[in-house]
Amino acid sequence: MSWKKYWDEELETMSPSKLEVLEEKKLRQQIEYCFATSSFYRDKMQLAGIKLEDIQCKQDLSKFPFTTKDEIRENQETESPYGGYLSSSPEKLKRVHGTSGTTGRFILTCFTQNDVRVAAECGARSLWTAGMRPDDTVFHVFNYSIYVGGLTDHLSAEYLGATVVPIGVGQSQAFISLAKDIQPTVITSTPSYPVYLAKKLRDEYGMEPKELGLKKGLFGGEPGAGIPATRKRLEEMWGFEARDANYGLGEVLAIFASECEAEDGLHFCGQGALIVELIDPDTADVKKIEAGAEGELVLTTLEREATPLIRYRTRDFVRVVTTEPCSCGRTSFRFKVIGRSDDMLWVRGVNVFPKAIEETVMKLRPQVTGEHQIILDREGAIDILPLKIEYAEHIELNHLDKLRKFIEDRFSDELRVTTKVELVPSGSLPTFEKKAKRIKKVFKGE
Ligand SMILES: [Zn+2]
Repeated sequence: MSWKKYWDEELETMSPSKLEVLEEKKLRQQIEYCFATSSFYRDKMQLAGIKLEDIQCKQDLSKFPFTTKDEIRENQETESPYGGYLSSSPEKLKRVHGTSGTTGRFILTCFTQNDVRVAAECGARSLWTAGMRPDDTVFHVFNYSIYVGGLTDHLSAEYLGATVVPIGVGQSQAFISLAKDIQPTVITSTPSYPVYLAKKLRDEYGMEPKELGLKKGLFGGEPGAGIPATRKRLEEMWGFEARDANYGLGEVLAIFASECEAEDGLHFCGQGALIVELIDPDTADVKKIEAGAEGELVLTTLEREATPLIRYRTRDFVRVVTTEPCSCGRTSFRFKVIGRSDDMLWVRGVNVFPKAIEETVMKLRPQVTGEHQIILDREGAIDILPLKIEYAEHIELNHLDKLRKFIEDRFSDELRVTTKVELVPSGSLPTFEKKAKRIKKVFKGE
């Protein structure tokens, strides 16, 4: 069957200037709405001395103060459960999700019927970009719980028209037996899960992953599938096409960016629902969205009814790949996620994200398997980064010293950090059924 090329052709191929007109109209409406309905935003505006008429265009947005996760948590703690942050009446709520904060209290994100629709639209637009179609049968391996990802991503795939089987995490046995019967075409999961599943298939069922016949792997929750060597490893192992898909944030939208067939960064797919800003995380200065620009993503919702966000600091660091139209015909800018500020490591004054470590390890294949662990023996900045890396089966033991030295030099060249590498045999580090935990903290209190 031949399907339409885009989920929403008009929005996805719209010229940037036309999109800006749409965004600015919606922005004024969203700010007016927040001022009228939310004491949280009204207080913020009054405190910052901002009047409604001050925000007319996208540039004016920089006058508005940022909104942070901590502020929302405090607001919900004071006015339990939803805070003055809730902008619609509680009777209009259809669904409530939570994201975990630093204190253990959930930050609650609410959806009205229209919020549910917008989330499904942006989700379907992203999944379509990544290659999902209505004739696909999807095995969905995300966490169905209070967290937004599992259920919302499921509903987006369903809204797109696909057949979705809610596998959930920790159900690998069910996955394998159902896959033999139902023969799914798509797996949606973290990129580390297929590595775990492949090992289980080989060890316990004597089967090769390719025998399950999956055609597409759409990955999210971790940035791995955007790393070319990680993608290649998954594709070789499973015989499917792997895409970095499902990028989103629980408090904003569960999915609003995915890779297209050009596989050159995540297309922004939240047209008309979100305004994106890029800032320098230290100075909070706004940076121009242009090829090569790096910074923290700041997001503003444009038609959120229950829990709108104005200039929300996501703590996610991204690099803009390009703002030129893509070979797929979409006009939205493309970006790569570099990391999350919470994960950032400081090694003798150099900041390093676990994803960069993964990239360097993956480039060392086939001498290593790709599995690795970052061992942290204390909190805060460190001088030398201890790493455990699995060497490949074919490496002879008397070559290990040379390989270790080679790897340490590579880290020094590529990431400018000093590492202490311990090489361990293939298969000795854990593979992950849930989200990959490559950082092992060995200091007290963990
Ligand atoms: Zn594209």
